[in-house]
Amino acid sequence: MANTLYDNLFGKHAGNTATFLHLPSGGTISYAAFLGTAARIANAVTAMGLQPGDRVAAQVAKSPEALALYAACVQAGLIFLPLNTAYTVDELSYFIENSGARLIVCDGAKTGEIAPMAEGLSARVATLNADGSGSLMEQAADQPETFETVARDKDDLAAFLYTSGTTGRSKGAMLTHENLLSNTQVLVDHWRFTGEDVLLHALPIFHTHGLFVATNIILSVGGEMIFLPKFDADEVIAWLPKATSMMGVPTFYTRLLDDERFTGDLVRHMRLFISGSAPLLAETHVQFEERTGHRILERYGMTETNMNTSNPYDGERRAGTVGFALPGVELKITDPETGETLPDGEIGQIEVRGPNVFKGYWQMPEKTAAELREDGFFITGDLGKIDEDGYIHIVGRNKDLIISGGYNIYPKEIELLLDEQPGVLESAVVGVPHPDFGETVLGVIVPEKNEQPDLDAIMEAAKKSLARFKHPRKLVVMDALPRNTMGKVQKNVLREDFKEMFA
Ligand code: ATP
Ligand code: MG
Repeated sequence: MANTLYDNLFGKHAGNTATFLHLPSGGTISYAAFLGTAARIANAVTAMGLQPGDRVAAQVAKSPEALALYAACVQAGLIFLPLNTAYTVDELSYFIENSGARLIVCDGAKTGEIAPMAEGLSARVATLNADGSGSLMEQAADQPETFETVARDKDDLAAFLYTSGTTGRSKGAMLTHENLLSNTQVLVDHWRFTGEDVLLHALPIFHTHGLFVATNIILSVGGEMIFLPKFDADEVIAWLPKATSMMGVPTFYTRLLDDERFTGDLVRHMRLFISGSAPLLAETHVQFEERTGHRILERYGMTETNMNTSNPYDGERRAGTVGFALPGVELKITDPETGETLPDGEIGQIEVRGPNVFKGYWQMPEKTAAELREDGFFITGDLGKIDEDGYIHIVGRNKDLIISGGYNIYPKEIELLLDEQPGVLESAVVGVPHPDFGETVLGVIVPEKNEQPDLDAIMEAAKKSLARFKHPRKLVVMDALPRNTMGKVQKNVLREDFKEMFA
């Protein structure tokens, strides 16, 4: 029976003994062995009483078995719900309650805390440890290596993927088989992935980047993945000579550039480096090219839509931009007040429509109605503009927009200026409450190693090139910006920390 996602990503590799995963130990797992494990898990969870459409929450370390659990859910028609391993049990209980998950798969070390919460919410618990041990695989061990694939249509749900919670409480994005498959096929084509590719995979698999973008692409083409548990510069440098391509968040690239073993020679053979999930500093893009001769390809996407835009494979990969809308994706910049499309060059909210756009937020009808228009356009919450050559620039998040004395201030414009100042590694600009202006501009500066930037000089530079209402009222120095596990700067944390500064 047909199952849109399973057939196109997994089922077509049945019996294929070619390598799918390279493990840090040096061992490998073939496609056939991987599918066998997935089928045994599908049998095991079905034997627990789970029915198609039920949700399976997984808060587990990255492992081949964890990935096989994803495949098993797709094959059994279950909705896969991967969760950030950093979440506490309190946080977890929100996701379990909100999603109505019937099974929680977690690390054995956490069952003591999770089991009572699960019982209260009538969910079962199975364990899966980082080394692949635990009750899930024990129950799967005796099961057959084949499983009768449950029929799933393109519009059936494949996953609930919760947003990263950078701007507030995480929302469960309902993603269908078609949402995921259509995007995979577009990206394979756009980024020229083939069965010859060996992707270095050091991203987490609880997030769209590592799970759907990276893994689905490789499954689709039948390539190989070097499957590292996390980003570790030693491991990545040791494995790069065997890879053809790599996907990363910007911090992967800055950490590699900080390492003198990362040389042009090490990666001369590579085909492609891709970056996303957070803005790549133009400076990193330039340094990377100087060091390696490769231009990082930056793209833009989100939990709700997978990927929306990408820099071109062949054309100019322009630093500081996210390229153009992908084939099949419509993108427009609109006035947040009126919803009217704005002329190129003007900053507005980014809206997207296409087969990649999710079906809505699970059990949040009001949020869904506010962000997903009836005509299918999704209001991403990001602000951006289209430049004269058609490249899309992300200016920041709508929620990070500062309104001071009635003026709109885009933090990115000020951050770009601060980043350029001597001794400054990076910066974040936020709006904090101010008695006269409503909000005012606060600049947070992270110095380069062993540097002490001259704050007075930086303030002078800002005053010289920015209109008065954009001048930072104050600059503060921090060792590092608060980031979530995806490397995203948490401006809400900064706003909270400094909310009393002028109050
Ligand atoms: P939440 O929606 O819960 O606040 P989140 O938006 O961070 O969290 P994700 O879906 O993981 O959750 O992230 C998508 C967001 O990441 C985008 O809306 C955008 O703000 C940012 N992003 C992704 N890629 C890029 C990029 N290349 N440049 C700039 N920002 C990016
Ligand atoms: Mg978001």
